[in-house]
Amino acid sequence: MAIMPDIDGGKCNACGLCVSLCSCNAFVFVGQVVAVVETELCNWCTDCEAICPLGAIRCPFEIVFEEI
Ligand code: SF4
Ligand code: SF4
Repeated sequence: MAIMPDIDGGKCNACGLCVSLCSCNAFVFVGQVVAVVETELCNWCTDCEAICPLGAIRCPFEIVFEEI
């Protein structure tokens, strides 16, 4: 299962910027909001998080501590 960005549907106004931006077509319109479609092609560039004017997209990073 691919890890995908999170969208807060309560903030999204369906402006479509992320739909136009994403090279792997991870975003689709569902009624008056945008939803994320799971795809192995997402390269976690985080451009979608950066472009959303309403802060509705999050690309969280997991910090893993390695014992040395
Ligand atoms: S850029 Fe943000 S507000 Fe615009 S459609 Fe995407 S998630 Fe919604
Ligand atoms: S992180 Fe990049 S490739 Fe993945 S959904 Fe966002 S814009 Fe698309």
